[in-house]
Amino acid sequence: MVQPLIALSGIRREYPSGDATIAGLKDINLAIEAGEMVAIVGASGSGKSTLMNILGCLDQPTSGSYRFSGRETASLNADELAALRREHFGFIFQRYHLLNELTALGNVEMPAIYANRNRNERGARAAALLSRLGMADRTHHRPGQLSGGQQQRVSIARALMNNANVILADEPTGALDKYSGEDVLRILDELHAEGRTVVIVTHDMSVASRASRIIEISDGEIVSDSTNDRASTRPAVSDGREPAQSGRSSLAAWLDRFREAFRMALLAMQAHKLRTFLTMLGIIIGIASVVSVVALGQGSQQRVLADISGLGTNTLEIFAGKDFGDTRSSKITTLVVSDATELAKQPYIAAVTPTVSTSSTIRFGAKEASALTNGVGDRYFSAAGMKLSEGRFFDATSVRKVAQEVVIDANTRTALFADGTSPVGQVILAGKVPLRIIGVVQARQGGFGSNQNPSLYLPYTTVQARFVGSHSLRSITVRINDDVATTLAEQDVTRFLMQRHGRKDFFILNTDDIRKTITSTTQTMTLLIAAIAVISLIVGGIGVMNIMLVSVSERVSEIGVRMAVGARQGDILQQFLIEAMLVCLIGGVLGIAIALGFGAALSMFSTSFSVVYSTASIVAAFLCSSLIGVVFGFWPARNASHLDPVAALARE
Ligand code: ADP
Ligand code: MG
Repeated sequence: MVQPLIALSGIRREYPSGDATIAGLKDINLAIEAGEMVAIVGASGSGKSTLMNILGCLDQPTSGSYRFSGRETASLNADELAALRREHFGFIFQRYHLLNELTALGNVEMPAIYANRNRNERGARAAALLSRLGMADRTHHRPGQLSGGQQQRVSIARALMNNANVILADEPTGALDKYSGEDVLRILDELHAEGRTVVIVTHDMSVASRASRIIEISDGEIVSDSTNDRASTRPAVSDGREPAQSGRSSLAAWLDRFREAFRMALLAMQAHKLRTFLTMLGIIIGIASVVSVVALGQGSQQRVLADISGLGTNTLEIFAGKDFGDTRSSKITTLVVSDATELAKQPYIAAVTPTVSTSSTIRFGAKEASALTNGVGDRYFSAAGMKLSEGRFFDATSVRKVAQEVVIDANTRTALFADGTSPVGQVILAGKVPLRIIGVVQARQGGFGSNQNPSLYLPYTTVQARFVGSHSLRSITVRINDDVATTLAEQDVTRFLMQRHGRKDFFILNTDDIRKTITSTTQTMTLLIAAIAVISLIVGGIGVMNIMLVSVSERVSEIGVRMAVGARQGDILQQFLIEAMLVCLIGGVLGIAIALGFGAALSMFSTSFSVVYSTASIVAAFLCSSLIGVVFGFWPARNASHLDPVAALARE
């Protein structure tokens, strides 16, 4: 026995209604042969649309069996049903259900995209269908620019795009004037004549009378099924379908669908520019702050580390006082030159440099200023990372010979040589001591020890001999032999000085410790601020999720149309995910650009900060923003892809 094209048996469709259920369809048994033209008539609410949706695999019955071409549909999943719709059914709705942001051509083409037809073929076929329906000069109009009759023709062209063998028309003339309605019916007649199966739902008997078979339903049941003698019956000679489309590589097809999804995402963003931008703002601010904070952190860390890198790893610095910032340390006079000379005799010590500080009034010509006078060793300059702007530093010989040579800083130069006289070679008076300037050091770029006070650097022997009566020192810098562990040496120096002083009135800084402390402090700070920035990113992501949920709910009916023409769940998911990712990616790129601009502005207007952008942090920011798009866009996109097609279509 030949299988009928459509075979329904015992179909029941129930809708929940409060605690009970109501049946839209009750026990429908129906067979439709290929090539038939069937009209389904009945009063409003009798179940016509419900039946139509089940026939078109948009909806599934609560119970009963629906075989299409002998294949049971009950066991098919959402994507298999979508494939059936794509390949076999063309829907024509009362309200046309065209997508407003696409042109007539774009609307007609849509089913072919999901059916993986290639672009040129697709465009040509859509144009041919439109011109066959008398719409050749309207292909680039949007639905809003077309009359109802014209829109319905576009929707018929869409139904024919994938060469459907079953045309399902639910009240196709319901919204049209008599003339346009006639026109649509004539087209349906033609499609039937080509051998297609046409099912038309109507409540208008004059429309139904054009069909060869009229099925009347009432209250969910078929009450009559009659052959209409008045209509001319045309037996199906062939199924009227053109040869099957050539297969395409799945990658090319996927790329095509991706491009379509991408285009739709762009259209959606364009339609709501302000909203999209505000959503993006969260991401922009988040990414910009993460990138700049990390860059600032790395910049300041590198700067500080560069400052102390000159100290070397095997150096100890002994200060008078109890700890850093001890306010009485200047009054503690127990750290003396003999400490330094005795320490120098220890076998594990390579070199010792005492540092003395005092203040004195300096004079050059009529100019006068108060300056910090530092007595230092010849190694001090490289250890402190100082650089000359002119002249030279003094050397070990100057220290030994108690030379009256001085290296001045930029502040001293400003104070005494504002008139532009070259300082090198000049003799200034510090107190009553004449000193020859041999070098000028560059101004410090922020960091440690930058201030406005003039400072002088002269051999510590000179300061001890000519300035300070006492032999007390500010600090002693000790360089340890390379083969001795710094910590062991530190313990030994502590013990040694404790013995000499009888108590601990000094403290020791180990450059290794300083380096570690600075590194870990700046890292902790960077991490902390970055964590705050990440929180702002998460907030931005929630904003994206929120707007995507809005976007999905606004476009439910579009989703319904796409599903009706055969979009897979994955196609819908992809479309919304791309939209979320685009918002985040564009936001991320703008954020990175702003961060770079901020860094450029900062280095232009301020010398006290430095920013270091690592490629890694920028790449990470980029990945991070796409990840946010995926993570926060997924749920709304999944919601969209799991919508029920019938419910989605019903939403206006
Ligand atoms: P028709 O198209 O013949 O006017 P329908 O098929 O739309 O009628 O509806 C048949 C019956 O099923 C009606 O009583 C209607 O209220 C009910 N029905 C249809 N869709 C739903 C739904 N989504 N939820 C609840 N009831 C529904
Ligand atoms: Mg209806």
